[in-house]
Amino acid sequence: MSIEPEKTVAAGAAFTRRHFLGVSGAALAAAVATPAMEGQTARPAGKQITSPDHHLQNEAQPGPTNPPIEGENPSSVWGPLSDNGSMPPFKYPFSLSHKEIDSGGWTRQVTVRDLAVSKEMAGVEMYLTPGGIRELHWHVQAEWAFMIRGKARITAVDPEGGKSFVNDVSAGDLWLFPGGTPHSIQGLGPEGAMFLLVFNDGTFNEFDTFLLSDYFRHTPKEVLAKNFNVAESTFDNVPSEKLYIFQSDLPRTLEEEQKQAGDSRGNVDSKFVFRPSEMKPNKVAAGGSVKIIDKAVFPATDIAAAIVTVKPGGMREMHWHPLSDEWQYYVAGKGRMTIFNAAGTARTEDFQAGDVGYVQISRAHYIENTGTEDLVFLEVFPSPLYQDLSTAQWLAHTPARLVDEHLHTGEEFLRKIAKDEAIVVPL
Ligand code: MN
Ligand code: MN
Repeated sequence: MSIEPEKTVAAGAAFTRRHFLGVSGAALAAAVATPAMEGQTARPAGKQITSPDHHLQNEAQPGPTNPPIEGENPSSVWGPLSDNGSMPPFKYPFSLSHKEIDSGGWTRQVTVRDLAVSKEMAGVEMYLTPGGIRELHWHVQAEWAFMIRGKARITAVDPEGGKSFVNDVSAGDLWLFPGGTPHSIQGLGPEGAMFLLVFNDGTFNEFDTFLLSDYFRHTPKEVLAKNFNVAESTFDNVPSEKLYIFQSDLPRTLEEEQKQAGDSRGNVDSKFVFRPSEMKPNKVAAGGSVKIIDKAVFPATDIAAAIVTVKPGGMREMHWHPLSDEWQYYVAGKGRMTIFNAAGTARTEDFQAGDVGYVQISRAHYIENTGTEDLVFLEVFPSPLYQDLSTAQWLAHTPARLVDEHLHTGEEFLRKIAKDEAIVVPL
């Protein structure tokens, strides 16, 4: 297929005009009034290959295009001129994942098989109907969870001391089951439970866990009889197929189940659950707020997390994490994250509720709210302790003359930086 030169120009010009209408009046006026502005480019003067309004012939997009995808990803269509190089994608929307539907609800996952960069962590979204049970099971990895909507009953047995854990969680609550801890989740009324699970291993597979039904089906009845000191016929009705996520009746009351399950040995009914609604934010600024939940406040956890709220116009400041990779889940609103990597590469991607983001260890990044509502996202780390290094704090606590010799900002710039970490800007 050939494209006539005139049509190419027309397509480029049409896109340019639409794009132009989206920029501010001041930017438009400046671009029109001073043709020199059009020379702004990532390359040295005289080798102009990009323009602020993308009107150049080499910037034409004759098509085909995918307007819904491009509309959600403006930074991929026209990234900031400071973006550079071929950094692999660090975003994967749960909307693109296969949804496995069972009688008691559904689940879908984003792992290293979907998002190649996410080697250290994987995530699962799950919905359980009122009464729907995620079968009693365990896995090698630790499970960190965030309740998005509804209510659930969670159970476990603590490997330390063998005590019973039964508790109810609702929107905003967290839980943590250490690797190897057997557990279950059941949706409660009236709307069931929608939640997020995060695992400290990118190769985790939600469809490949140790299920109680599988375990018993693949153990001889005579062994089960000997092990539990009961008749073999006790196991005549063990299901012939795995249960996984199945519909059931609602459980008994929490008090009744805690009492019955913890009868002989007692319970650890708060050990594996944490309710961020009961803690004060670690930081509140004009630009937003943050709550940090790590081993310091939630001793059972070996997965640290931050719940970040960024107000419209605000930004999670430039920073990185020296201890581990960061797995993100966007809960509400719209944002844009830029990651700076070594060798002068940088890339920007756009995010919205339901998207997963990923930042490798010690790669600098910042997240802007690009919407009109609060941006809420989770930062999750496969590390018991939360740690970040703020770019502002680095420079504020380095000799001013030394920094000026690198950046030529003037020493006054260093004196203006807040001496305490901002986390979210503006202060
Ligand atoms: Mn699990
Ligand atoms: Mn971060």
